[in-house]
Amino acid sequence: MVSENFRTVQEAISASCHKAGRNSADVTLIAVSKTKPVSMLREAYALGCRDFGENKVQELLDKYEELPKDIRWHMIGHLQRNKVKYIIGKVDLIHSVDSLRLAQEISKEALKKKLTVAVLIEVNVAKEESKFGVCVEETENLVRQIASLPGILIKGLMTIAPYVDNPEENRQYFAKLRELSVDINSKNIDNVNMSVLSMGMTGDYTVAIEEGAALVRVGTGIFGERKYVS
Ligand SMILES: *Cc1c(COP(=O)(O)O)cnc(C)c1O
Repeated sequence: MVSENFRTVQEAISASCHKAGRNSADVTLIAVSKTKPVSMLREAYALGCRDFGENKVQELLDKYEELPKDIRWHMIGHLQRNKVKYIIGKVDLIHSVDSLRLAQEISKEALKKKLTVAVLIEVNVAKEESKFGVCVEETENLVRQIASLPGILIKGLMTIAPYVDNPEENRQYFAKLRELSVDINSKNIDNVNMSVLSMGMTGDYTVAIEEGAALVRVGTGIFGERKYVS
């Protein structure tokens, strides 16, 4: 099942890139494997997938230990400051930085390990109350503050769009995130390059690609529905 799904998603990505006049090499598919067993990640790995997204620190660490070391791990979930130290040096990109205090903690741990940690700023574009992320109006200010910290490098922005039946409804939010990144880029802030947009999930990644996504985060579309046990 994973292999068929993975190919279907890859083909849809190619089609969207073609439609938007983009090079498919500029879009990376992140397989969001949260709650899924390592065996399924191995299936995706065998098909060439090297980017996996997880939203819980412990689960990410467990999978990191078990799987090949050429995988790029993406922390896409809300990150607590007291857990930052466990993932520094293991994750390639933290998508969910939305406060100065979290960034300061990342900076501190990065310096201890003599590393530079790449991050995205999570923006709550749709202003959903249930979601984490900084609001659009405060993003530039937060970017400026984080940019001055050592050991941390801002690579772009991330957003989680609302859950909708018609992905076209989310086009406005993806376009808004792109505009925001262009706007901040034009300010030429030292240490800031807004080239990466992480946006689009199973229900709306094709629209996100048309609006400029560099990273799409697809879980259900590859691994099937998640069952949460409480
Ligand atoms: C779970 C999750 C995804 C993947 O969602 P699907 O709808 O299953 O594709 C993407 N991004 C984030 C931040 C998530 O938590």
